Amino acid sequence: MLQIGSHVNYGSREGLTGCVRDTILNGGNAFMFYTGAPQNTKRSPIDTKSLQEAKQQMEESHIPSSNVIVHAPYIINLANRLDEEKWYFAIHFLEEEIKRVHQFGFSYLVLHPGSHVKQGVDVGIQNIIDALNIVLKDTKDYPVMILLETMAGKGTEIGKTMEELKGIYERIDEKERIGICLDTCHLHDAGYDLTDFDAFLDLFTSFLPLSLIHCIHINDSKNERGSHKDRHENFGFGKIGFDTLLKIVFHEKLKDVPKILETPYINHLYAPYQKEIEMIKSKTFNAHLFDEEKKTL
Ligand code: FE
Ligand code: FE
Ligand code: ZN
Repeated sequence: MLQIGSHVNYGSREGLTGCVRDTILNGGNAFMFYTGAPQNTKRSPIDTKSLQEAKQQMEESHIPSSNVIVHAPYIINLANRLDEEKWYFAIHFLEEEIKRVHQFGFSYLVLHPGSHVKQGVDVGIQNIIDALNIVLKDTKDYPVMILLETMAGKGTEIGKTMEELKGIYERIDEKERIGICLDTCHLHDAGYDLTDFDAFLDLFTSFLPLSLIHCIHINDSKNERGSHKDRHENFGFGKIGFDTLLKIVFHEKLKDVPKILETPYINHLYAPYQKEIEMIKSKTFNAHLFDEEKKTL
């Protein structure tokens, strides 16, 4: 069965029930959310009543817990240790986030590996490894898996190549708690050719085991392959294209991995996910999918 959903908003008042409701409305059975604003580290305690309600709704609508992904705030930068205090703050925040994911009863936390700022890739990678080893050691009682996201290579982002991701993975003490989240827009922008996805998976496997992949961000890209720009486009409307993305979504080897849409809102107003999921299920591209929404400027 297709495992698909989108990024959804975790409301401060509704908590998780809003995420589940939106996922059901979108026709999905998977979702990803930030436990607060992605650009800051302010977090409020989990409302256990709302959590119970959400869990019940998930069960009734056949959304397995393994299809729920939490995304760590993108300001967390484990690669930058220029300011020791900030680096430790990021570590402690990540530890708290892991505890939150565990309290939710979920298993996966997606993390951008980090940006080395001006210190160079090797220093950045070492800082990430050191930070992750501390985090994993400090959270032994919270068996959440950190999924390192493949990055576009914007600025000084680390994780834009399989070599870099392998370089991190190899030196992690508790490997059973590290996995990978593929992001199709990022892979394409980083320069990887996804048109022959079997060939890409062969390449991936020459660095890391396929079993590490526990989430796929299924985004099109506004830019040419190798652009390092990281600008997402709606499914089938960008430079990766419908056929290639569809092959990835329905690939036999990754059929149990949840696919998460992080595609842009239409006119910054309309969430595209319901229509995109419907189109994906129909396996037929519709160039006019958002004509109505686009008219309302
Ligand atoms: Fe991300
Ligand atoms: Fe992503
Ligand atoms: Zn992105």
